[in-house]
Amino acid sequence: MTSQRKPLIAAEQAPMAFFSPTYRRAVEASQHHAAHPGATWSEDDWRSRLSPMQYAVLRRGATEPAGSSPLLRERRAGLFVCAGCARPLFSSAAKFDSDSGWPSFSAALDHAVDEESDHSGDETRIEVHCHRCGSHLGHVFNDGPGPGGLRYCINGTALTFLPERR
Ligand code: FE
Repeated sequence: MTSQRKPLIAAEQAPMAFFSPTYRRAVEASQHHAAHPGATWSEDDWRSRLSPMQYAVLRRGATEPAGSSPLLRERRAGLFVCAGCARPLFSSAAKFDSDSGWPSFSAALDHAVDEESDHSGDETRIEVHCHRCGSHLGHVFNDGPGPGGLRYCINGTALTFLPERR
């Protein structure tokens, strides 16, 4: 199977081409679920399902301490899914070391995230949310590597890593 792998650079255009057909089918099937029930959950419901740090980040837009996420050192092939609703958000093929202290990606999976202007700080930033459950994930900047030039700066606590099984 590994001989069929595309070079990492192709991940920008077609992130899922990075994975085996079996894994890809499983992931694509999971993306066709109906809307996540989180859309109707109360804040107490969310709080009971998340750790205090996850709740602060996902539901309150907080930022985890720089360098705190174990996912900074995650090097395996697989998918990073929303810690709120398990929707696949980022491929390991798009992950890179930014030295920012937060897990960083050059692209999101198709239709996985929504972006909106965030005026809460001194400078306007682009905030990134999960497309399915609306949870806050992080921000996206224009100083990334590769042809897209994007750097998705994502709180590790907002993500769960699912390694690809071979
Ligand atoms: Fe989500």
